[in-house]
Amino acid sequence: MTEPAPMHADVAIVGAGPVGAALAAGLRDGGLNVVVLEARARLHAADPRAIALSHGARLILERLDAWRDLHARTTPITRIHVSQRGGFGRAELRAEDAQVPALGYVAEYGDLYAALTRALLDSGARVLTGARVEHVGATPGYGAVRYRRDDGEHLLTARLVVLSEGGSLPAHQRVDKDYGQSAVVCVVRSDRPHDGRAYERFTPDGPIALLPLGDAYALVWTTPEALLPARLALDDDTFLAQLGDAFGRRQGRFFQAGPRAAFPLRLSLARASGSARVLRIGNAAHILHPVAGQGFNLGLRDAWHLAQTVLDTPREHIGTAPMAAAQARSRRFDVDGGSLVTDLLVETFSNDLLPLRLARGAALALLDLAPPLKTLFARKMMFGARAW
Ligand SMILES: Cc1cc2nc3c(=O)[nH]c(=O)nc-3n(C[C@H](O)[C@H](O)[C@H](O)COP(=O)(O)OP(=O)(O)OC[C@H]3O[C@@H](n4cnc5c(N)ncnc54)[C@H](O)[C@@H]3O)c2cc1C
Repeated sequence: MTEPAPMHADVAIVGAGPVGAALAAGLRDGGLNVVVLEARARLHAADPRAIALSHGARLILERLDAWRDLHARTTPITRIHVSQRGGFGRAELRAEDAQVPALGYVAEYGDLYAALTRALLDSGARVLTGARVEHVGATPGYGAVRYRRDDGEHLLTARLVVLSEGGSLPAHQRVDKDYGQSAVVCVVRSDRPHDGRAYERFTPDGPIALLPLGDAYALVWTTPEALLPARLALDDDTFLAQLGDAFGRRQGRFFQAGPRAAFPLRLSLARASGSARVLRIGNAAHILHPVAGQGFNLGLRDAWHLAQTVLDTPREHIGTAPMAAAQARSRRFDVDGGSLVTDLLVETFSNDLLPLRLARGAALALLDLAPPLKTLFARKMMFGARAW
């Protein structure tokens, strides 16, 4: 016999992506009635992305008990090399500068998701798969979601509804910017070992990131829309030759490429939700260009801080205006800082104007020469905009 659909929850989480799963895992010791609604039929992610996790993300994943299994499947980043094509100036950030074992870790998306799904299932939350939320509303007393499953439409009310559905539901107020670019992702091999070094190379067409993954590299190649169909259709040898031309020879010769996939890139910030009973986290609140590898890291911090805020709030005050204000205060600086810096990087580094090229070169050279600046920059990359 199937269990009846729940009618009410303390916290309803819409979307069991990595961020929604992290929130449910963070709430596990609160004795709360948590219901998670996920549109997909199974909690499984077949996604070609590799995700760079910051050192700060590792600390949160440890607390969520999701790091233990994941750790062995990640590749540590011990150096990040930043440069621009056709301009002087480069900077290298090193784990030693930040006094940490690694600046970050690269995980396959599927492994990260599997670890967080396990933590979600261990959390005691009730997970409904195949449950697509179609409408979200609120009264002063509770939030409400209407969702559809195979057996029809259902209504769930909750003290607090958290949207972690990746931005698929309409927002009360949203700022959108289309970069006119897509990220082409695939795994590539080069004839020099990576020794834990990640690269961020800025070119006039947009940044190229190489993240060490196992004994290969995960490539994220920002591509203007006009060039996308041709780049996806190239045979592997021509693709690798063009990558070598765009990236340079610092990592030797690229000789093998895996299957390619493309993701359209945009900035999207959902401002107020209109009610303290409905909050947004992860991509539902902010979608960023992947240039600085910040999207999931920021979403994970949203989930962690919201879990702490909810756990610190007496049950009858969950979803009230003071709780929502506390959450907004704790996240505003990190989210605004992360999106601003990411957007600035994309806009100032993705063009070929000579004065900007010179200024970028000077900034990179300065960064490389000034250890305190490097340490500060490395800490921002690891812990977000609030880290000083
Ligand atoms: C090419 C690329 C590279 C990236 N690299 C990095 C990186 O190196 N580091 C980093 O930190 N970030 C990176 N990111 C960003 C990162 O991938 C995202 O920030 C992260 O995956 C967002 O997770 P989420 O859980 O918020 O949203 P999603 O992963 O979109 O999950 C949303 C979930 O909600 C479900 N859902 C949707 N609509 C509904 C509905 N109506 N009802 C119920 N359920 C619903 C979906 O099925 C899904 O399971 C990258 C992004 C791209 C595109």
